[in-house]
Amino acid sequence: MAADDPKADIRHTMQQGERRLARWEAREALRERLEPLSPEDAVRRLLFAVGEDPTREGLHATPGRVVRALLELTQGYHLKPAEVLATTFATDDIEDPEATPAQYNGIILLKDIPFNSTCEHHLLPFLGEAHVAYIPGENGRVVGLSKLARLVDIFALRLQMQERLTAQIAQAIKEHLGAAGVLVVISAAHACMRLRGVRKPNTQMVTSEVRGLFQDNAAARAEAMSLLKGA
Ligand SMILES: [Zn+2]
Repeated sequence: MAADDPKADIRHTMQQGERRLARWEAREALRERLEPLSPEDAVRRLLFAVGEDPTREGLHATPGRVVRALLELTQGYHLKPAEVLATTFATDDIEDPEATPAQYNGIILLKDIPFNSTCEHHLLPFLGEAHVAYIPGENGRVVGLSKLARLVDIFALRLQMQERLTAQIAQAIKEHLGAAGVLVVISAAHACMRLRGVRKPNTQMVTSEVRGLFQDNAAARAEAMSLLKGA
């Protein structure tokens, strides 16, 4: 859209609003239609669909368990990345007036963070490891390592695509921690690929996202990658 045409600008905004409204209306209509069916009954429908008998003893409590498991696997929707990254630490010794200021400006890498997520296309799990590297922003403040692992969970415990998961983690560290650079690499095995469809049992999907310094500076990126591969 042309920057010198305010009308086109407004029209574009209106079109976006109309699309959002149409989507909202479609969603609410569907919600209303499905309202009489409880989530547990929806699972019972699925059990019938695969030729099972939802009333037999072994399946009696299954619908409730499926619903609870799914809620547990998607609890990340209710957790806020900004809160997890809110507590930061200074790296220089600000308490000691005699000390020479020595702020950490290097790479911080947390490797092999295990996670499990749920593929939004098949509702099947994908599991793997996330590696998160960042360079502190100008204030030199860093975050506790456990918080990085928690951040991975916040985004992993949703219906996901690995690509988006990778991007969301990188974006949150850039945004909420004010990191100068962020690199996120994720390697995962997808049940939807291993168990169904093309059935390739040993495939591993690798995704990487960079923000800030790692995007602009090839040397910094290479250093982070070698840390990742090395010790
Ligand atoms: Zn899938």
